[in-house]
Amino acid sequence: MAFRSVNPATGQTLKTFEPWDRGRVDQALADAASAAARWAETPIEQRAELMRRAGGVLRARRDDLAAIVTAEMGKLFKEARGEIEKCAWVCEYYADHGPRFLADEPIETDASSSYVAYQPLGPVLAVMPWNFPFWQVFRFAAPALAAGNAGLLKHASNVPQCAVAIEEVFRQAGFPEGVFTTLMIPSSLVSGVIEDPRVKAVTLTGSEPAGRSVASTAGANVKKSVLELGGSDAFVVLDDADLELTVANAVGSRFLNCGQSCIAAKRFIVVEDIAEAFLARFKEGVEALRPGDPMSEATTLAPMARHDLRDDLHAQVLDALGHGAVAVTGCAPEDGAGAYYQASILDGVRPGMRAYHEELFGPVATVVRARDEADAVRIANDSPFGLGGSVWSRDEAQAERVALRLECGAAFVNGLVKSDPRLPFGGVKRSGYGRELSHHGIREFVNAKTVWIR
Ligand code: NAP
Repeated sequence: MAFRSVNPATGQTLKTFEPWDRGRVDQALADAASAAARWAETPIEQRAELMRRAGGVLRARRDDLAAIVTAEMGKLFKEARGEIEKCAWVCEYYADHGPRFLADEPIETDASSSYVAYQPLGPVLAVMPWNFPFWQVFRFAAPALAAGNAGLLKHASNVPQCAVAIEEVFRQAGFPEGVFTTLMIPSSLVSGVIEDPRVKAVTLTGSEPAGRSVASTAGANVKKSVLELGGSDAFVVLDDADLELTVANAVGSRFLNCGQSCIAAKRFIVVEDIAEAFLARFKEGVEALRPGDPMSEATTLAPMARHDLRDDLHAQVLDALGHGAVAVTGCAPEDGAGAYYQASILDGVRPGMRAYHEELFGPVATVVRARDEADAVRIANDSPFGLGGSVWSRDEAQAERVALRLECGAAFVNGLVKSDPRLPFGGVKRSGYGRELSHHGIREFVNAKTVWIR
């Protein structure tokens, strides 16, 4: 079946792409394997320089690339521009620091010389989602390619134009052919690619079922995998929180990208004493969001990326309402051809409801009331996920104590959980394993080789 690029704001089909047959995939893997062998021999300073040029291409083409993102998955144009700039940043970050992160590491032993050398693995497959269609790919590709690996991208089926454009960025920057390749394949062909001996490792960002499938194939073939899966981040509001700061960030964290971010705040766990005051202001902030054309500066709520995702979200909302949750605002799809969903708050969310246990990947905030700090921590950790979390309180020491007790890969105090090239990113529990970004990220797809010389 052809890949269709559909504008979710209008429902209009923009382009279609024919999927590759096995012969073309095989040729791409052969090309990637030979390119990877030459690329590994290229000095890291040269690889870093090309990565810097990729950053330059992204900056120069920021608006036209951002327009592709907005047209294809619906995010606000201003957010898409920010995403492209962040991709340039991660390229420049690894251009600046990659050589140092991968420098030989001397270790004193009984040898005359012993050290760790970081060597690339070869072609690495990246299975990527549509929600940050550039950022997810670049935060894998910038460190992995700088480290000397080749990248093979299987992008989400609804963002084929982004997939093609990303390969073009690397080509324009001067990367040798085969060092980064977009495979135009459906997910049914992913296992075969992982099993191929020319592919050395795999990373997936996406849902848990996809992660389980990719990791089990990688495991069966004894290949390294990294999984960046879903999250249902707790946003813990303690009773002395600065409400103005907290509510502004609550709205931002939940509704950026129309709520379709793995590290969006999804569960608002509010200590009872402050719950009514928080909720009143939060409702006001959420009701001020304006859906509309994502290209317009005035729009503050984007459409969701696909109609089927909106249907899934609404089923979760109806389940919660059917089990006694309260619709504080919104909680229904918008009329019209676009995949818009009302900015929504569900109060009184409890165990047993899908909304309590599952990730809500769209513009719906769930509110769970806690008796006190200890109860808030208990509820925050009562989740299968463990990606991020935030704590809001005027007492920073208290908030830090709570942050350290959250079972997650990143805990922020009085700040919205975000990714940053300088900080490691990844989850615990069913949010996955492995780390992206920082020096941790560039060491995921390398052989930390011991060299010992008498
Ligand atoms: P998805 O359905 O799992 O898709 C992600 C990617 O996996 C797509 O390229 C998809 O291809 C592919 N895929 C799906 N099923 C597969 C299978 N059985 N075998 C191999 N590949 C498969 O996820 P999504 O709904 O697009 O993305 C949203 C999810 O990603 C959310 O749960 C979100 O939290 C998570 N996410 C996590 C992070 C993080 O860093 N932890 C970041 C962003 C998003 P097709 O499109 O062709 O199906």
